[in-house]
Parts: sequence; structure tokens; C-alpha cells
Amino acid sequence: MAEAPMRWRTGGCHCGAVRFEVLAPDEVEAKECNCTICRKAGYLHLIVEKERFRLVEGADKITTYSFNTGTAKHHFCSVCGVKSFYVPRSKPDGYSVNLRCLDDGQVRVVRIVPFDGRNWEGAFAAAQGKV
Ligand SMILES: [Zn+2]
Repeated sequence: MAEAPMRWRTGGCHCGAVRFEVLAPDEVEAKECNCTICRKAGYLHLIVEKERFRLVEGADKITTYSFNTGTAKHHFCSVCGVKSFYVPRSKPDGYSVNLRCLDDGQVRVVRIVPFDGRNWEGAFAAAQGKV
């Protein structure tokens, strides 16, 4: 694959209180997870190192929800309820950005890769090549 140029892409929640930037190439692969929360939200993941994410606005507007193991920190906008990014269980030292929350024309989603989050342990091990 050719070296894809990385640029800071802008996005945020619905009401505009939460704004972020993520360093990403023009074309990205999205992960679609079928776990209990992602399925209901229709979340499309772009999982990045923490250095590739910066919160621009809205730290004071974010509310956090955790469940099950409590590892994932689901950060929602307390005004509009949209989860535009969060700390995922699969990468607690990084971020997952919701590709559906990027501004129009920021990246092209070229492939959607399913992640079997309903069977999280097995799916995570398989993704790491441990199975
Ligand atoms: Zn909002």
C-alpha cells in the first residue's frame, strides 16, 4: 500500500459542543462492532493512538458511561447525547473516533470490517493474531 498522507480531520457531536481532531489518511478502514452498545448506536470505529487525537472543545460538556468490565469509557456529549469518540476496551491507551461524526468530506471509508464484540474476548484475541 502506498504511503497515505495523514492530515488532521475535524469532527464533533451533533450540537457542536464537543469538537475534536484526528490524524488520519484520506482513505480509512472502519470497524463495525456488534456488541450491545455499538450495535444500538451504529458506531463506526477508527481506532488510533492517543497522539493522533485531540479534543478541541467541550471537555466540560462530556459525560462518561461505563458498563461490564468498566475498561471502555463511553464519552457522550451531555447536551445532544452523541458519542463522537471514546476510550475503547480494545485500546484503553488510545481512542476510537466515530467516523460518522467526522465533518463532511473529511475521509473516505473504503472498507467496513466487522468486529464480533458480542464475543469480545475471542474477537480481540483473533484480531491480535493470538488464535
Ligand atoms: Zn453535543
